[in-house]
Formats: sequence, C-alpha cells, structure tokens
Amino acid sequence: MRLDTAPGQRILPPERGATTAAIQRGSPAPTATDAPRPVYYLAPRRWVLAAVMSPHEWHELRAQVIAASPGTTRCSCPAGCPATVLDEQWTSVPELHVKRFVGAALRCPGCHWLGDQSRRIQTWLALKARRRAEPHEKQHIRDCLGWTRKQVKALRDRDLADHAARLADLVRIETAAQTGEASVRPWQVDAGALRQYGYSDDEIRSFEMRMMDIAWEQIAHSNRPDTARNSRPDE
Ligand SMILES: [Zn+2]
Ligand SMILES: [Zn+2]
Repeated sequence: MRLDTAPGQRILPPERGATTAAIQRGSPAPTATDAPRPVYYLAPRRWVLAAVMSPHEWHELRAQVIAASPGTTRCSCPAGCPATVLDEQWTSVPELHVKRFVGAALRCPGCHWLGDQSRRIQTWLALKARRRAEPHEKQHIRDCLGWTRKQVKALRDRDLADHAARLADLVRIETAAQTGEASVRPWQVDAGALRQYGYSDDEIRSFEMRMMDIAWEQIAHSNRPDTARNSRPDE
C-alpha cells in the first residue's frame, strides 16, 4: 500500500502505556519465496483523536465528557487546579499491536502535560535547545504535585532516553523496510470506548479510519524511495 504523504512526517511508536516496547518484531510474514521476513509494527507519534477531529467534533466530545461527569471543574491534583483541558486516555496492548481509547476527562494543563510523553519530550528538547524559561506546565509537577528536583530530572532523563531509542529504532526499521528486509504494518486503533459518550458505531469507525489513514500514510512515507538512504551500510 503506497500513499502520498506530506514530507517530514515521522513514524514513532505510541507514547503512552507500552512505552519503549512499542516497536516490536512480529511473527514472520509469508512472502512469494516463503522466506520469512520480520514484521515491524509502527504507530504514529501523535496518534490521538485530537489529531483527526475537526474543531467542531472536538468541541462536541468535550461537551459529551462534561455531560458524563457534570460539575467537574477541578483537577484531581493536590491543589485542585482548574480543569480546563480535555485529556484523552489511551492504553496500549503491545502483544496485539492495538492502541485503545479508554476515556477522556478534564484536567489541569499541568497534569495534562505530565500525562503526555510526546509533549514532555517537546518541552525537554526546547529547554535544551533554547534555554527558554520553564513552562508553567512543568513547574506544576513541583509546585502542585510536590516532586523533587531529582525526580523531575529522572523523568527528563528517561523521556530523552526513550526519545533517542525511538529515533534509532526508526532509522533501523526504515532502512529494513526500504531494502525489503522487513515489512512494516501499522498498529490498529480501537476507539470503541467513545460509546460511553453517545457516539454511534459508524461515527467511531469514521474516527478510527482517519487515524488508520495517518498510520498508513506514515508507513508509505517511510517506504518512499526519496526518503531512502541510497546505499546499504555494508556497500
Ligand atoms: Zn492537575
Ligand atoms: Zn495542580
């Protein structure tokens, strides 16, 4: 399956749940010559409903989440900060290569940031590169959640190590895919838990298909010759 895709997109495993184990070597896929090829399962980096919903659809989801738990104006953190951000909750099932939506809730921006590794990595990288001031969301984990400086540093180091490992995996997988040594398939997405907010099966399928489109586009991009490293390392 080949699709045109915007340049510069990256394929990365899911950020939440399964963490670093998200890129996996699957069972061998049959080929014309019966020679088994490894299968790599990939999921886009920011693979969430917010990435595929229109502003109107996002607003509707927010309204449904509020209706499902009326009166929720405060986050569950110690200071009960104002819950202003709609936070998607996902889980990963690595053995099935499935990313599963489990629900959504309003949270404060700080807790939202803490729960989203891709956002955290963006922050760490920006702080490293530009020496910018600490964003309020990051301050929150010390000021409200009471983390020590050492705990924050441990989180940062782990996030950046995960980030580096993902990039290395990505290069290896792209190379293997482009040389035909491996095949690449997308993770599947399960947004069935949207039913709790009144969505129909058709609506849920539509959101899932949009997310799968993103996954297939990114895989097509990784297979495109113009992104290939032109020679193999041993040549
Ligand atoms: Zn909070
Ligand atoms: Zn708080």
